[in-house]
Amino acid sequence: MEARAIAILGATGSIGTTTLNVVRAHPSLLRITGLAAHSRWRELVGPVKEFNVGTIALADPVAAAEARASGAFPAGTRILEGTAGLTEVACLPEVSMVVSAVVGTAGLAPTLAALKAKKDVALASKELLVLAGKFVTAAARQSGARLLPVDSEHNAIHQLLRDKPAADITRLVLTASGGAFRDTPLAELKNVSLAQALKHPNWDMGPKVTIDSATMANKGLEVIEARWLFDLPTDRIDVVIHPQSIIHSMVMLADGSLQALLSPPSMAYPIQDCLLFPRRLPCPAPRLDLAQTLALTMSPPDPARYPCLGLARAAATTGGTAPAIFNAANEVAVAAFVKGQLAFTGIAELVGQTLAGCAAREPSSLEDVLSADAEARTAASRLALALDR
Ligand code: MG
Repeated sequence: MEARAIAILGATGSIGTTTLNVVRAHPSLLRITGLAAHSRWRELVGPVKEFNVGTIALADPVAAAEARASGAFPAGTRILEGTAGLTEVACLPEVSMVVSAVVGTAGLAPTLAALKAKKDVALASKELLVLAGKFVTAAARQSGARLLPVDSEHNAIHQLLRDKPAADITRLVLTASGGAFRDTPLAELKNVSLAQALKHPNWDMGPKVTIDSATMANKGLEVIEARWLFDLPTDRIDVVIHPQSIIHSMVMLADGSLQALLSPPSMAYPIQDCLLFPRRLPCPAPRLDLAQTLALTMSPPDPARYPCLGLARAAATTGGTAPAIFNAANEVAVAAFVKGQLAFTGIAELVGQTLAGCAAREPSSLEDVLSADAEARTAASRLALALDR
């Protein structure tokens, strides 16, 4: 079999670098054809040389110009820029799978183009499905491209569903760590610090996702993702707190039994599952040590502790651009919390107020979604000033 050619959008982030590790572990099965990043071009020099990559793209044109002028890349390396550059990397003729891991909305258009060009997509960016689930799933359906979830919960569910008819599935159960404030007394949440919010018990992630994990806005986004990926209404998608992050998610079958997928909390597992799908080979990550006592606990999330989860569910039920409004408001709120302008509990307040103040509508194009996103950001920024502590 010829090695599967991979393009990575978001190559310098943690998903991107873990993807490179997985490719390193399977050199006869996987190769890298294109790499794209926002602006950190220096971090692409090593991988370009190591994997003999012919084409890269930087979303930021200034960074692309720097990269071209640097002389750091091998002669002949094509260095593209902007959305068009990312799209070209994703749609290179030899590419068979795109790992879509760009933070924010910059990956939307390139990923949609890749799906339309019948490239399989390993999807890591939440925004794609949260904002444009309707368009992303339609593009995959129309071209026959595969959409494989990288997010550990959705990847687990995808694995569990592979051999089952839809009628056998009654519920999906997403697991959540509960984040940094799982056991903090409710009355203290108002005064928790940024440093406390950034301490995640199990996963090593960027600050935005770590704070989203503490508010469970992250799990709310994942409920919306799951709704699109698995075509089930959100009232059949449950969330349980599972602090050990070993059970990555579960499915409840028609007879009431639950099936779960377990592995250590390493993103190498879901990434490799996508890259090698449907093959199973040893993953370059630790194994669960069953010689040690393994205690696994689960409990329901307290709505008073995690109001963002309820807000996300409400947005999912409203549908249309409501999830985009939720996502935009949450990003503005988290940024304000990081800057010390908002109390931790102000994040959910701001998201709730923005959702109440912005009307959702059914988007007929990506532009509609992006304008709802921009509108919600403006509204949330204005509201943030009023909540400023
Ligand atoms: Mg996740």
